[in-house]
Amino acid sequence: MYFRMVKRVLLETNKRLVWKLAWNFGFKGIRAVQKHKKRMEQGEAFPPFLYISVLNSCNLRCQGCWVDVAARQQTISPEAMRKLIRECNAMGNYFFGIVGGEPFMHPQLLDILAEHPKCYFQVFTNGHFITSDVARRLREMGNVTPLVSVEGNEIISDERRGRDGVYNRTLEGIQSCLDAKLLTGVCTSLCQTNIDDLLNEAWIDRLIEMGVMYTWFHVYRPMGADPQPDMSLTPEQQLRARKFVVEMRAKKPIAIVDAYFDGQGQALCPAATGITNHINPWGGIEPCPIIQFVTDDIHDESRTLKEKFNSPYLREFRELAADTTRGCIVLERPDLLQQLVEKHGAKDGTIRQTAIPELKAMQVRTSQFNPAEQIPEKNWIYRFAKKHWFNDFGVYRQADHTLSAAPYLVDSQTHTAPLPVASGTSPELVQLNRDN
Ligand code: SF4
Repeated sequence: MYFRMVKRVLLETNKRLVWKLAWNFGFKGIRAVQKHKKRMEQGEAFPPFLYISVLNSCNLRCQGCWVDVAARQQTISPEAMRKLIRECNAMGNYFFGIVGGEPFMHPQLLDILAEHPKCYFQVFTNGHFITSDVARRLREMGNVTPLVSVEGNEIISDERRGRDGVYNRTLEGIQSCLDAKLLTGVCTSLCQTNIDDLLNEAWIDRLIEMGVMYTWFHVYRPMGADPQPDMSLTPEQQLRARKFVVEMRAKKPIAIVDAYFDGQGQALCPAATGITNHINPWGGIEPCPIIQFVTDDIHDESRTLKEKFNSPYLREFRELAADTTRGCIVLERPDLLQQLVEKHGAKDGTIRQTAIPELKAMQVRTSQFNPAEQIPEKNWIYRFAKKHWFNDFGVYRQADHTLSAAPYLVDSQTHTAPLPVASGTSPELVQLNRDN
């Protein structure tokens, strides 16, 4: 497998692009994480990897999407991006996940990315706007990897994404990337309708055959104005996904990304560990893309970006999330998140202005946290890399997470539970854990 992977990188990719990835993302990313570790030891945070929604608009209408894609378009301007990236670079951060909406609908996106050759950008896209001209420009720039989402086979994809022909246009976009020899990824938000079609070896083999270099299986989370709880994975399916990823990493010559487990298979929340946060199209600073509440924005000149990432709201979010669960606080304890938002007077970061009622209406669900079944990495490269550069950075040290086992208290049929029965971590216990 290792030999086949090396062969793929040597024969199927453009060496200049591989070098850019190794330097801008690999070397600088490691340096950024080392700085992050030091800052965390001193009780401060500044995310080494930042996700930026450059606009809210999208040409698709995916089921369960939490972005106001049909509302009036809001984009982050090139000037605001310039300032944001400059401030991040000054803190040692050179990696940016570009999300939306559909990022390629941002009229100045390519110019913005081209202006920062020392940075590396991962663009989350449906692929529809990646023509051969766009792919050629991305290749010239060399500092961008497109991560194209495929949400099922043709029928499922088109149904899930609200239009006919979506699947084929997505495949055309992927092909444009591959023809230009871009380092191309394919991601999937796993849910009930696509898990059987895409979480299997045949799909991984097909991606390899196409020339795709990496993949990422997210897990669908029912959030937003029109959540689709029936699409969520069961705890057994989540475990199946984790086992599959670990197996395939040890077996197939393709990189597989995940953001929710350390090398020993312990769950973590990237927003709690401070490794990432999210900027919305209005510049609002959110803990992560599904927590649409803000106290600060990037446009405010009165404070530095570092001060904003250490605002009382984000600081307390990190503590509360880490004290509550190694999984996802949004899914396991939406009530605690609501209390936090209200305590800090965090504003609803959406256009629809219904984020609080949406949070109130949520039911407790299982997340990635599953202390009874932790699946350590089998591939030594992932084990090594995670041990040093992707772990919990000590944030869970103070909490006893054998007690916060929400996943094991939910109803086995519906996979939900009423509050507060579902969690072993009451607010009092959170405090107690911290005091002890
Ligand atoms: S709060 Fe949940 S969705 Fe957000 S980063 Fe943490 S685990 Fe992921």
